[in-house]
Amino acid sequence: MSRSESWVQLTQEVTCEAPRCEHVFAPRVRVIRDTNGEEWSFRCPKCQKRYDMARVSARGVEVRAELRTVIGDTTMAAEEREARITELQAEMERETTRGADAGPGPSTETLQDAQLRASREGHDASSDD
Ligand SMILES: [Zn+2]
Repeated sequence: MSRSESWVQLTQEVTCEAPRCEHVFAPRVRVIRDTNGEEWSFRCPKCQKRYDMARVSARGVEVRAELRTVIGDTTMAAEEREARITELQAEMERETTRGADAGPGPSTETLQDAQLRASREGHDASSDD
């Protein structure tokens, strides 16, 4: 797989850590995908400070696709489905290395939500940058 790029708009706001900036914004995350997985980062729109959010392994990207399938599978028994979702979410968490700047940024939950949203949107969301 070659390198591709997409964008994910988060809904949760963060505050820029840069002194004298402290801009509050909902990050627009840049997702760069290659054979090793994905790299998630965003910049403060005001001062351009870069935040490294996370790295998702190639396996993590696969697990996410499976998780999405399971979430959408209405033929599965509710209990079985929930157990599988919990399992896959845990694996996804293990396959995600949170970046140094992830701390004050969006939570893990948000990151997973955003990832799912991104995969649901088929990675074709505007690439106008
Ligand atoms: Zn800033």
